[in-house]
Formats: sequence, C-alpha cells, structure tokens
Amino acid sequence: MAKICVVGIGPGDYREMTVRAVEVLNACDVIVGYHVYVDLVKAHFPEKEFHTTPMRRETDRCRLALELAGQGRDVAMICSGDAGIYGMAGLIYELRGEDAAVEVEVIGGLTAACSGAARLGAPLTHDFAVISLSDLLTPWEKIERRLECAALGDFAVALYNPASMKRPDHLKRACDVLLRHAGPDTVCGVVRNIGREGEETRVMTLAQLRDYEADMFTTAFVGNSQTRVIDGRMVTPRGYRDV
Ligand code: SAH
Repeated sequence: MAKICVVGIGPGDYREMTVRAVEVLNACDVIVGYHVYVDLVKAHFPEKEFHTTPMRRETDRCRLALELAGQGRDVAMICSGDAGIYGMAGLIYELRGEDAAVEVEVIGGLTAACSGAARLGAPLTHDFAVISLSDLLTPWEKIERRLECAALGDFAVALYNPASMKRPDHLKRACDVLLRHAGPDTVCGVVRNIGREGEETRVMTLAQLRDYEADMFTTAFVGNSQTRVIDGRMVTPRGYRDV
C-alpha cells in the first residue's frame, strides 16, 4: 500500500532527531521537503532520492509527496521540529482526505519550544502557550487576542515565527500586547538557529525583547510572573520548593 510518513526531524542537529525518524528515513525510497531541511539531513542519507520545493509552496510539496506515494514509492516528507506543530502533517491529511489509498503516518519530533527551552534553562516547567506570530494564515487580530489571553492567564509563552523579511515588527507588536498585562522586567529569552550553524541563546527582559531583532530562525520565550534568572539561565519554578 502507498505510504507517506510525515517526519519531524527536530531542530537541525542529527543527534536531536529521534531514532524512529532515522529509521523511517533509512527505510523510505524518497525524501520530500523544503530545501533548508533537505540540506540538514542529506549527508546522513546519501543514497536517497530527494525532492525539494521552495518556501511557501507547501501545498505543492504535499501534492508531490502524495503523487509519489500514489506511484507506489515509500515517501518521507520532512519538516523541522515536529511535523504537526506548524508543519505539514495536517495539510497531508487534508489533501489526502478520506481516500485511504494512501496510508499516512506522522512521526513526532522535537519542536523548537522544547529544544530552545533546553538551551535557555527551564522556562516551560509550568503551564505554557505556543503562539505563532505569522499572519500569513491567521488574522493579526486573532494573534493579538491569543497573546492577550496567554498574558491574562499568566502562561509562559513560546513565540514562533517572530519575524520575517515582510514583517520585521511583529515581535515588537506582540511584546506591546503582552506588556499590557506583564511587567517590563518579565524574564524572557531568545534562541536562534537551534542545532544549526550560528546557534545563539540570550536571556533578557520583556522590555529588551521588544527591541530585539529576531529573524525567521528565532524562537522567543516569555516567562510567567514567577520566572527568574538563576546563574544566567531562564527558570520557571514549578513550585516544588513550596510544598
Ligand atoms: N515545525 C517546527 C516549527 C515551524 S514554524 C517545529 O516544530 O519546531 C517556524 C518557526 O519555528 C521559526 O520561525 C522559529 O520560530 C521556530 N524554529 C524552527 N526551527 C528552529 C530552529 N532550529 N531554531 C530556532 N527556531 C526554530
């Protein structure tokens, strides 16, 4: 039966890919993905046939994967981090629809919230929200409402897609919304290029995050009201020491 595995490859470093993902990539015939992700895995799977499509051509990429599977090839469609978190897993299911001629399996991966949090210390030890600042597919008003609700709930927040060429000021605008309910000294952090060349980690305040120049390979973390800096690390207490 035709099969597509939608595989989360983790942040970029081969050692942060799951054993299951490596097994699937070793076993498949064809690997399909955005060229940046294909470049990240290519050296480890040199025998495979690779197909790439440019950014923003997500639907084309999924159609290509479905087409190759329809031809009887075993296809692995790769996404960075986790395939179901701002990844292609949902779109593959949507495009396949109820046509069960192609089997789909999703292979979970280490999302940027987890790999980035590990670099920063322990910012997500308590309840947290994950919010993407990309308004390509979500109206900005809705993003603002979600930010507002997260701040009202005193959630720590991981912010994905904090900036791109077309929207350099989204992080600033998001911080302005959070600052309505959180203090300017709220502990924050950023991690860029996790598991890739040029990896960078910084702990800062919410006021400083507002002016931070993020790029599309940055994930930003906003602490909750309890988050502290301990020896340079961003730490959100769970409350163990109070019981
Ligand atoms: N599926 C991915 C998310 C894709 S959305 C995952 O689960 O991690 C793209 C956003 O994810 C980026 O703008 C950035 O905020 C975050 N991201 C993904 N990989 C990253 C990395 N290696 N370093 C830092 N941020 C990353």
